[in-house]
Amino acid sequence: MNSKSALIVPLSILLGGCPLDDDNPVTNLDNDTAELSTTLKTNRSYDDIADAAVWVSEENNDHNLLVVTLEGDGLAAFDAQGQEVFYEEGIKTLGADIRYNIIDSNNNHIDLLAVGLPDDEAIGFYHIENSSDNRLIKLNEIETGFAAESICLYQNITTKDLTATLVSEEGKARQYKLKYDGTSIKSVLEDEQGNPKHVREFSVGGELSACVVDDETSTLYIAEKDIGIWAYGADVENVKERRLVDSVEPLGNLGEIEGLELAYSTDGNGYLVVADEIKGLALYQRNNTNDYVTSFTINGIDETKALAIAPDAFWVANTEADAPVYEKLLTSSLTDFLYSKNIRFPTLVSHRELSVEGVALVKTSGETVAVDDDGDAADDPAFWLNPDEPSKSLILATNKQAGLMAYNLNGEELQFLNQDQNGNDIEPNNIDLRNNIRLESGETISLAAASNRKNNTIALYKIQAADGQDPIVPITVVGPSAHSEVPELASNLSEVYGLCMYAHNGNAYVFVNGKDGKVEQWELTSVAEGFEGEIVRTLSVNSQPEGCVVDDETDTLYLGEENYGIWAFDAQPNAGTEATELARIDNKTLTADVEGLTLFNNGFVKYLIASSQGSNSYTIYDLNNNNEVVGTFALIGDDSKGLDGASDTDGIDVIAADLGENYPEGLFIAQDWYNIDKNYENENQNFKLASWKSIMDAIQN
Ligand code: CA
Ligand code: CA
Ligand code: CA
Ligand code: CA
Ligand code: CA
Ligand code: CA
Repeated sequence: MNSKSALIVPLSILLGGCPLDDDNPVTNLDNDTAELSTTLKTNRSYDDIADAAVWVSEENNDHNLLVVTLEGDGLAAFDAQGQEVFYEEGIKTLGADIRYNIIDSNNNHIDLLAVGLPDDEAIGFYHIENSSDNRLIKLNEIETGFAAESICLYQNITTKDLTATLVSEEGKARQYKLKYDGTSIKSVLEDEQGNPKHVREFSVGGELSACVVDDETSTLYIAEKDIGIWAYGADVENVKERRLVDSVEPLGNLGEIEGLELAYSTDGNGYLVVADEIKGLALYQRNNTNDYVTSFTINGIDETKALAIAPDAFWVANTEADAPVYEKLLTSSLTDFLYSKNIRFPTLVSHRELSVEGVALVKTSGETVAVDDDGDAADDPAFWLNPDEPSKSLILATNKQAGLMAYNLNGEELQFLNQDQNGNDIEPNNIDLRNNIRLESGETISLAAASNRKNNTIALYKIQAADGQDPIVPITVVGPSAHSEVPELASNLSEVYGLCMYAHNGNAYVFVNGKDGKVEQWELTSVAEGFEGEIVRTLSVNSQPEGCVVDDETDTLYLGEENYGIWAFDAQPNAGTEATELARIDNKTLTADVEGLTLFNNGFVKYLIASSQGSNSYTIYDLNNNNEVVGTFALIGDDSKGLDGASDTDGIDVIAADLGENYPEGLFIAQDWYNIDKNYENENQNFKLASWKSIMDAIQN
């Protein structure tokens, strides 16, 4: 996120040096609001002032524009001094939200206002002009047939995908994915007749009064007026379980919830702000638990029903005044007031400042069929290169609830192996493989290993071309390290988790790790009956690892510690066990959890790629150049092909090889937590495919 020096409120400089405890804000304020007064009011009153939104000028807060929906009285806009500068009558409006820099395919961009049009059951779109006259220019309407009580926009700060959410008095929420075509706003999904089609609809409960989306955390907050505030995943592709932020008294801190807004700050913090008819304004942290901070009322405003936030001011509706207006509460006076209560209020920024820069956006080019099990099931892929016919290579992958899959490059399933050699269930978590492993017989095979959490074992497999045969063939483990009931290697870890392989001096090795941070290094030996294995070394990190990969050329094991970063170990069985830090979580290039790790090596460049799960992106490190960050990228959907993007990725794999015209420089594979079909209906998880060439093109642009 950029910070703009022009937006800095002077008091923040003072606050910077003050010994305030951010983690323990004082939450019990006395009801002393004498200090909190507004400085000005909008100059024209309307009977039914409803929701509002502030357009924030790039240059100066004095050029900001307050847009107010007036129900039957139409739509009005006021300048920063409260003077009306725009009025449209003859329409009914309810609910307003604004986003910036909405871009069409020719890179034209507009600042967009969306308002609810209840009479037409439609969303009205306006383009906001940064000029003195004619500030709002109507673009078009989208008919939804949905009686919206409130509307909120969401712009994914990485992908820039734009979504409108509508909530109704009947307890329903509905989302439309939107695109700008240069002249109007369209629904990405349309039915056969060309009518806009929503991408998601769900029931919240009782009467809904407001919604707002936190674009940075992708959280959709919905106010159920007499119950509480709910937090949902805002991305259609990233629907999480809902969570109750707070409820009304006596269980919670709220009274009657009427409005929701967000105050974003330069430091990534800020507040969810609730307009509560009884309690006034209530502040909540923007973190995962939305901790309650405080509530307060403003002099002269008896019922707080709606508000709109700009960096320099909170505009609060005074609906109970004899002449209803919006009143301007300066952020500086709010900051002073809260400061006197030992609550830090940060310097605010607008949505305009929210974006993740430097993440290359790559469209997925394919996906595997969905796995058999719902919930968190797909986990880790491994690529098998067919040396004779590269286009007939295989994508191997785990369904950690049920088995191993083999897919062709079109993502079609060729095999689903869901049993161990005794016919019992398996739970393979990670899979990796090595080619040209020489057997005792003299034959060389591709050898795969998977961590099987069902038996706490390492299962071994031979991988072969799928020419009329199953490509994944179990290999029997014998000898003293074999599990007593199943011919797999019995681990001493409390529970096997991440796994990767290593080949060295003709020997095959497996590294398997557990959630306690321990890592076993197994040496595999081919014998007449199959394989024997022996633990030759144990390594460790301080907390939960999972993703790992070995560079056989340099004998280096790269291991991700999920909440810390990436370590490098000498992979040789007789080497020391100390680790070198390669990268640490910084919430910029690498955001927890560090998940899958893989190597791209085409003989010219050698890159380590990490799944930066918390930022839904992948980070590339140049192993031949001091591990410098080459770039980060995200896999986004391609609506023209009915493909969705990848998010919350666990395992990844990459191959540097010419696999034909779709993948001339190689293929990147990523597990996708939220898989949807072309109609945005949820499907079980799967793996996304992307051309390495498109990744490099996006990063180099
Ligand atoms: Ca793998
Ligand atoms: Ca993990
Ligand atoms: Ca995780
Ligand atoms: Ca995993
Ligand atoms: Ca997805
Ligand atoms: Ca899909």
